[in-house]
Amino acid sequence: MKPFAIAVHGGAGTILPHLLTPEKEVAYKSALHDAILAGEKILAANGSSLDAVEAAVKVLEDCPLFNAGKGAVFTHDETHEMDASIMRGDLLMAGAVAGIKNIKNPIQLARKVMENSEHVMLCGNGAAQFAKKMGFDFEPDSYFYTEQRHEQWKNAILEDKVALDHNIKIDEKKFGTVGAVALDLHGNLAAGTSTGGMTNKKFGRVGDSPIIGAGTYANNSQCAVSCTGHGEFFIKAVVAYDVYCLMEYKQLSLEEACRIVVKEKLVKIGGEGGLIALDKSGNISLCFNSEGMYRASVKSNEALFVAIYGD
Ligand code: ASP
Repeated sequence: MKPFAIAVHGGAGTILPHLLTPEKEVAYKSALHDAILAGEKILAANGSSLDAVEAAVKVLEDCPLFNAGKGAVFTHDETHEMDASIMRGDLLMAGAVAGIKNIKNPIQLARKVMENSEHVMLCGNGAAQFAKKMGFDFEPDSYFYTEQRHEQWKNAILEDKVALDHNIKIDEKKFGTVGAVALDLHGNLAAGTSTGGMTNKKFGRVGDSPIIGAGTYANNSQCAVSCTGHGEFFIKAVVAYDVYCLMEYKQLSLEEACRIVVKEKLVKIGGEGGLIALDKSGNISLCFNSEGMYRASVKSNEALFVAIYGD
């Protein structure tokens, strides 16, 4: 029987044991666990990888610990502007939203763009108009507020820095974006990513997460990829698509392709972060060049894996 598999991430960065209380560690791990279970349940019941990815990302968006949906970081103007994308590997269909406000689950709006519009990416006011047309509810700003993110924002404003994390101290870098990749029993791959971006981001800044090929990519012929890290570098390195290309054109294994992109090519240009990836046989790569990455995975024939720190 063909395997199913799913992996999720909740961001990468300087994640060190002494920076995380045991209670927080348990909370992060149990959120990752819940996200995996939400996706696994769908896959085990012969559901689609697209549904599994959406369900897993939604769990992480609803959890205030991660920088997506509830708990998204603050922009320079003390607002929340979120980005998300989703892609299905069988039809190469994709949907994305950028700079959206007040939407509880940006991943669901990205999917609507893919399925109910003739476009791939919608941003700002236009995306809001589309969300209204699709019947989405708008949450008040207070829904997205968390004290920790507000503290980070104050620190970032004081230091006049654009911070890449959801840490209290902005020089301890952590990227709290969330994402999922899945392979279903029909051999279909899918990937999705959702983020609040960077603390103190200005001028409508958009990172890699909603950009197909940079932060997210899925193609049944090789792999599904979701990234987290310093978005500007991930855009320049076209990270998710580069993993696919190394497999497609150079016949590299998933593991080798991810290693080259994350540990060699990104490192060379100073791009910190990581990715989760799955190939069509169900092999999983959870690869990062930072201290740690919130991550979890499960396969139909293997036990659940959850980890935070580097190995
Ligand atoms: N990649 C995201 C961005 O640059 C940040 C993250 O991964 O947390 O917007």
